[in-house]
Amino acid sequence: MSDRGEIAALLLADVKDGVPAESNRDALGLALALSFPRELIRVAVLAEDALSSARKCSEMLGADVLSVSGEGLSPYSGPAFLAALTDMAERLTPRFMILPHSSLGMDLAPALAARLSAACVTGVSRVEDAGLGPVLARVSADGGREEIIRPLSALTVLTALPGSFPVEAPEKPGAVSEIARPVLPPAGVRFLGCEEGPAADLALAAADVIVCAGRGVGSPENLALVEELAGLFPRSAVAGSRPVCDAGWLPANRQVGVTGATVAPRLYIACGVSGAFQHLAGMSGAKTIVAVNRDPSAPIFSAAHVGVAEDLVTFIPLLIDALKK
Ligand SMILES: Cc1cc2nc3c(=O)[nH]c(=O)nc-3n(C[C@H](O)[C@H](O)[C@H](O)COP(=O)(O)OP(=O)(O)OC[C@H]3O[C@@H](n4cnc5c(N)ncnc54)[C@H](O)[C@@H]3O)c2cc1C
Repeated sequence: MSDRGEIAALLLADVKDGVPAESNRDALGLALALSFPRELIRVAVLAEDALSSARKCSEMLGADVLSVSGEGLSPYSGPAFLAALTDMAERLTPRFMILPHSSLGMDLAPALAARLSAACVTGVSRVEDAGLGPVLARVSADGGREEIIRPLSALTVLTALPGSFPVEAPEKPGAVSEIARPVLPPAGVRFLGCEEGPAADLALAAADVIVCAGRGVGSPENLALVEELAGLFPRSAVAGSRPVCDAGWLPANRQVGVTGATVAPRLYIACGVSGAFQHLAGMSGAKTIVAVNRDPSAPIFSAAHVGVAEDLVTFIPLLIDALKK
């Protein structure tokens, strides 16, 4: 519970083109896992004209929403968001601020924490209640270990690992309050435009089972094996490591890792993936990881729950036959 202001957790909503992202449920789930009732949670929607998105967020989350409209808040601008959130943190004195686990959150969370002298824990995958205040678990940057952290600061800035904190649909929407906040465009920065990059494939976020092709698949032809294996599971998707996507064997929006998607499916089958930390950082939140690699010393085996040290061209057809039976 909060020993600071009336608000225990302030969430920054993730909204794209006026539509709240599914990841907002992860942030709410984390706030609830911190044992805060919905009455002590506020969701901030920041945009030039935030009201309609704020209403959608209140319906999606069933939490009270602060609609913060101001010049300079659309499109996203790091300095403008930083100024607005710093101001809100000082007025509302929350104990936790939960930002989206996205490129926006990666940009803003460390800067906000530094500005507010707060702790910053990104990619939280679990909350342990150790009696002396929340203890948080996150996957380490090299993906192979779980770090257990007790924040000691008055305020902690967090992001939630996608898929780690499922929440039920709310029974009713929360209240929406409007705050007008003139934000001056930051000095020394001129916004020139925004170009769409390859969006992360929605199939990856929704999949229960992901079969990932690493460079060890050897050729685009062998991808057929990976695709056939994935096709045997309902709600499945095929992903790739960076070399596979860079080579054009799979589209860029199928890449998993620090410069690709972060996923947390129930089952992740890594085929011919070495387990570089840049890859592990995107998939270590999977509930069960199976690795198929012909090199028994490959780092992926330290992250895997089940390891198969075998040539994938030999093993995957056997697995497919077994699953078909
Ligand atoms: C700034 C930066 C960002 C990066 N971002 C990402 C990212 O987002 N995602 C990402 O994936 N990488 C990323 N990388 C690249 C990363 O460092 C690794 O190079 C990459 O993950 C390796 O991909 P891989 O495991 O498919 O290939 P490799 O490292 O080449 O591994 C292939 C593996 O397949 C095994 N193998 C080979 N043949 C077979 C076979 N027949 N059967 C079974 N096993 C076999 C080998 O033993 C080996 O372990 C990034 C790198 C940098 C510097």
